[in-house]
Amino acid sequence: ARNLHTWFELRQWGFLRVGAVHAVDGVDFALARGESVAFVGESGCGKSTLARTLLGLHRPTRGEVRFAGRSLGTLSGRQLKAYRAEVGYVQQDPYGALPPFLDVRRILAEPLIVHGVGARSERERRIRTALEEVRLSPADEYLGKFPHMLSGGQQQRVVIARALILAPRLVVADEPVSMLDASVRVEILELLRRIQQERELTLAFITHDLSTVRHYAERIFVMYAGRVVESAAVDDLLDHPQHPYTQALLAALADPDAANATRLREVPAGEPPSLLRPPAGCRFHPRCPHFMAGLCDRDDPPEFEPRSGHRSACWLHR
Ligand code: SF4
Ligand code: MG
Repeated sequence: ARNLHTWFELRQWGFLRVGAVHAVDGVDFALARGESVAFVGESGCGKSTLARTLLGLHRPTRGEVRFAGRSLGTLSGRQLKAYRAEVGYVQQDPYGALPPFLDVRRILAEPLIVHGVGARSERERRIRTALEEVRLSPADEYLGKFPHMLSGGQQQRVVIARALILAPRLVVADEPVSMLDASVRVEILELLRRIQQERELTLAFITHDLSTVRHYAERIFVMYAGRVVESAAVDDLLDHPQHPYTQALLAALADPDAANATRLREVPAGEPPSLLRPPAGCRFHPRCPHFMAGLCDRDDPPEFEPRSGHRSACWLHR
């Protein structure tokens, strides 16, 4: 992603332009093939919009997404369809993601049919293999079931099987376990991690939960108000956080008294800023304990590299 911006026009009464929601507002990063990364941030920081922009579901307002050397913006309709087969999407709400009137066989056949893969017998073989891979076996027990007949964890396994059935190279999982029972979350995360390693997939996790990422990602990008404010290898980031926002998140996690302490929204001192009118200068400045007047509220901090391979956009590193 290069200088990526995805904005949404906001209108009142359908015509009066109120402004643009700067959901993704200047994001740069490169993912290596086979790498597992996590984008972490509070709700409303733009991470789902980033996910959908990477998947080609939103067109960037500015900047570009390049995949395997080609810019998505230059692809024809047909090439974009081919791109969609190279990327898998695991949504947050498995029940909402699955069509209620189709059985599991038909749900998994759909992408194969849309992309013209194989005869019926070949499709059936692939569907069964996909179910085995997500540990819904024996497949015969699940093929004829409708989504409402499955548990939340089983539904998410079907969503994952569907995301994998065209053998994508990149999978984007947007809060894949946040709507599931706590008891099945680890199972689903481990399933994704195992499949990522076996298939040498590039996996981008989108999550608000910094406490789980150490086991499921090699690199972390911390997002705040439409930007990536810090990125590093997972251990380096968690053990040596450089950006005041990340430090506040980790402090909130470490505080056993904080109600619901695993959620980033417990960061003290205020709410995440509006993406309609982001604060000038550093977007974190209204909440930052290290705020420097005349600098942080005026000039946008560039990315510094305070440790090797560890980037942080904060004036303290200057
Ligand atoms: Fe805080 Fe200033 Fe750094 Fe922003 S740039 S995180 S306001 S110290
Ligand atoms: Mg979201």
